Amino acid sequence: MRIFDPHIHMTSRTTDDYERMAAAGVRALVEPAFWLGQPRTNTGSFTDYFDALIGWEPFRASQYGIAHHCTIALNPKEANDPRCREVLALLPRYLDKDRVVAVGETGYDSMTPEEDEVFAAHLELARAHGLPALVHTPHRDKVVGTRRSLDVVKESGIDPGLVVLDHLNEPTVAEVAGSGCWMGFSIYPDTKMSPDRMVAILREYGLERMLVNSAADWGKSDPLLTLRTGEAMLAAGFSDDDVDRVLWRNPVAFYGQSGRLDLDEADTAATFAGNSILRGGS
Ligand SMILES: [Zn+2]
Repeated sequence: MRIFDPHIHMTSRTTDDYERMAAAGVRALVEPAFWLGQPRTNTGSFTDYFDALIGWEPFRASQYGIAHHCTIALNPKEANDPRCREVLALLPRYLDKDRVVAVGETGYDSMTPEEDEVFAAHLELARAHGLPALVHTPHRDKVVGTRRSLDVVKESGIDPGLVVLDHLNEPTVAEVAGSGCWMGFSIYPDTKMSPDRMVAILREYGLERMLVNSAADWGKSDPLLTLRTGEAMLAAGFSDDDVDRVLWRNPVAFYGQSGRLDLDEADTAATFAGNSILRGGS
């Protein structure tokens, strides 16, 4: 099984995780810029973080034959902090970088007027840079937040095929399916979405525009839940080709719209899977 995790926060994970992921078939991933838990107090803190996303993390991933790309944005939660607002002015510089394949995570946390403003600004940046956009749907009031996100996407004029609404679940998937946007699902150990619930959604809504991620971060999460979802699909009667479509070809198609996906590393890992490339690192 070859796996492309389209949403995972490797900055919060150990090198052991990279090793386990490579052994499980993860050959490519996208790491979206997000909230680090501890509030950032100035823009310099963001530049250091963004630099790590385009420098240090791709290097760490490459030691395990994993192709690393990222998305860049001022996340919805910190969009509310006036000390972070100047980050918006830094974004164009990063959105020109080779391994930046989308604008994100943007969208809503608490649905404040500040978030409205920053979300719209991000969709405008995505349009200006010809990039896809990764939209985080809120954990509270998810149905309202998802509906409102779809309205903002529509108003922005961006092609819905360039937008993924992420962290969806049973109550929110139908509306996004009808919008033309991509549907993202974060599979978690206890909360949100499980592999079996994901399989039921794929049965009902089909495989088109579906993205499955582990979103693994500094909270309780598991970077191998993409693999577990693939296994659950096979157990439920989906074919190997179906699994490959959801776990590899769909994310390649979505982020490939940036024109910047470089999967040479992943191809090399495929050729040498199982040998010394998986034991790199220090
Ligand atoms: Zn995330």
